[in-house]
Amino acid sequence: MYDRLRERMVSAQIEARGIEDPAVLKALRKVERHRFVLEESREHAYEDHAMSIGLGQTISQPYVVAAMSEALELEAGMKVLEIGTGSGYQAAVLAEMGAVVHTIEIVPDLARRSAALLAELGYGSVKVVEGDGYLGLPEEAPFDRVIITAAPPKTPQPPLDQLVEGGLMVLPVGEHRQDLVVLKKTPSGVVRRDLFRVRFVPMVHGKGY
Ligand code: SAH
Repeated sequence: MYDRLRERMVSAQIEARGIEDPAVLKALRKVERHRFVLEESREHAYEDHAMSIGLGQTISQPYVVAAMSEALELEAGMKVLEIGTGSGYQAAVLAEMGAVVHTIEIVPDLARRSAALLAELGYGSVKVVEGDGYLGLPEEAPFDRVIITAAPPKTPQPPLDQLVEGGLMVLPVGEHRQDLVVLKKTPSGVVRRDLFRVRFVPMVHGKGY
């Protein structure tokens, strides 16, 4: 049943809206999204919206996961930092696309739960770190790509500093509703491209931010 729902999700929500990257489509066809939601809501896992995963957090809408994954312009073997592990679903999609994934989550229970689930589902190569992703992950820098799946009011500088030159960072920026943006780090500065409006949970960080 889930295989059929997943196939329908990819054709009706993802391909129909113009996502073309074959690696993204293949990963979304493969990763068992229903395993990343609460057990009682598995039957809804392939619907066209974000969902609660408990602890006040959400798993993003499938289309948003697909669009962000495509915007990363990933090549197999690239080193990627995800900030906001949540359920672990986006991390699994990136791993399925051949990326070397480091993901950081500020809620300890979620970091533990998602690390265990990713390992159980065969994504044990994904490194899950508990901590404040606002600071990036300096001990593993530099990264070819950074994806932020919680919304900061403005772009956090540390993860941008930890990006290679020519690297891309995809993130929602703003309060309440956000712009999904792609930042490219070039020798002459950061170039911004806006995709569309989104709504993510806020990025948590210390006082005065
Ligand atoms: N990518 C996730 C969805 C993310 S929901 C998925 O595929 O399911 C946003 C997540 O970001 C939440 O789990 C929240 O706890 C986390 N978060 C918020 N602020 C953070 C921070 N400063 N560092 C790391 N994670 C953070």
